[in-house]
Amino acid sequence: MNKLVIITGASSGIGAATAQAFAAAGHPLLLIARRLEPMEALKLPNALCRAVDVLDSVGFKTAIDDAQAKFGPAEILVNNAGVMMNAPAAEGEAAQWDAMIDINIKGVLTGIRLVLNDMIARNSGTIVNIGSIAGVKTFGNHAVYCGTKFAVHAITETIREEVSSKNVRLITIAPGMVETDLVNHTTHDAAREGWWSYAKQIGGALKPADIAEAIVWSAKLPQSVCVREMVICPTKQEP
Ligand code: NDP
Repeated sequence: MNKLVIITGASSGIGAATAQAFAAAGHPLLLIARRLEPMEALKLPNALCRAVDVLDSVGFKTAIDDAQAKFGPAEILVNNAGVMMNAPAAEGEAAQWDAMIDINIKGVLTGIRLVLNDMIARNSGTIVNIGSIAGVKTFGNHAVYCGTKFAVHAITETIREEVSSKNVRLITIAPGMVETDLVNHTTHDAAREGWWSYAKQIGGALKPADIAEAIVWSAKLPQSVCVREMVICPTKQEP
């Protein structure tokens, strides 16, 4: 039987597409997000869906414990939950900065902390962290979001080095523009509309399934092969 895959942020966008792709590959799943209904609506087989905030480490751990009791040890964790609220820094809102820092960085750290020691003990496991092209280069209006994604890239690569001898892989998947709800949480009208207008100008952003395919491919390579980082953008995306 294929092994347990945990996916955070599975109620929408890239996370939901990744859940569908791993289900199609025959994996049991633990799906985590704050909204339960969209995860249950995916109607995936062998999927435990839990309404958990990734910042609630107790709830997150309970969900993992329950899934492992049902399906066995987690072989793959996809730390995908994230938020983006863009604006020029001079117009930024403290609560939005906090949310990005908390969810995009501390949420990823919580996921890592909850599975890493078991993976080390088992000498096997894969953690896929969703970074961004905004974790590779900077973008105007994205100062804090870029900061969080640079952090994800740095954290992933550092821990990868630390646990490589234990046969545990850490992978950064860094998407460019993908058509999801992500940018719709941006309350700065010009920043939000600028994103959609550029996506339209280049003939559309990527689809969530494009990223899901890369996640599943890299995670299902033999354990001896580690894709350290993959940056995937629309061909016509210039920056
Ligand atoms: P969506 O907004 O479609 O999905 C975000 C997901 O994260 C939702 O399922 C949401 O679920 C979940 N989430 C947000 N906050 C929390 C939380 N506190 N606890 C648990 N789950 C949470 O966006 P995408 O699919 O685009 O985003 C997925 C990842 O991809 C993010 O890390 C994003 O930064 C990254 N990314 C996206 C790009 C894009 O262009 N779309 C480009 C580069 C990277 P709920 O609200 O139900 O909790």
